[in-house]
Amino acid sequence: MSKEARYRRDIVHFGRLLHERGYVAAMDGNLSMRLTGGRILSTPTGMSKGALRPADLVIVDLEGRIVAGRHPVSSEIAMHLLIYRLRADIGGIVHAHPPTATGFAAAGLALDQPLACEMVIELGSIPLAKYGTPGTHELSETLRPLVSEYDAILMSNHGVVTYGDTLEHAYMKMETVEHFAQITLVTHILGRQQPIEKKALEKLLLARSRYKGVNSAATATHYGSANGNHQARASTGERLHPRGIKDGVRERQRTKA
Ligand SMILES: [Zn+2]
Repeated sequence: MSKEARYRRDIVHFGRLLHERGYVAAMDGNLSMRLTGGRILSTPTGMSKGALRPADLVIVDLEGRIVAGRHPVSSEIAMHLLIYRLRADIGGIVHAHPPTATGFAAAGLALDQPLACEMVIELGSIPLAKYGTPGTHELSETLRPLVSEYDAILMSNHGVVTYGDTLEHAYMKMETVEHFAQITLVTHILGRQQPIEKKALEKLLLARSRYKGVNSAATATHYGSANGNHQARASTGERLHPRGIKDGVRERQRTKA
């Protein structure tokens, strides 16, 4: 089987998983992979990710011009192309609307508190990008400042985008984001959060840089500082955990300055 044929099979497979898990409804969501020669293999627009066939996929160049395929390309292709242009290490991208993480994005809340160690190891922290109209250049621009430092981004009032060296890793990050959003939601229901303490967090971040590579690592200074909606974060954060990690971060930033 050729590399392109394998990639087509992968997109169909992970698209079906997104649909089965309820991370997308109707024709929502899109997936892509980087082929050789500056070409990108993408899902088409207007088709359910649960019922794609390998032949439905579309190939575009890095300017978004269709190179091969019978269908129009995903309306969010500009977002995918921006990520491929900014991150040479990225081979696959997944965009979906998983309900809990998208709920946080609709509430104006980033997932940027170190509440679970697996989460710190896997993704560091997950920032919230400002709102941008779907399918427009505006949407890509809201992501631009965050792409180089994060592998998963909440998109305000919209959904989530994750990316990795392979499509499988990008998909796994989407599962991790939604799982962590569910855990965070439970802490909101319980009315309190107990973020991992500074020293323990530094150990986890060290492990993360060792195992995952520094390119994709969000450092300790990213916790509580990357939210696109500072007001929402400050009000929620202060209500839930007055002496959380953010205070330590602020202290360190002051020392640096
Ligand atoms: Zn979307």
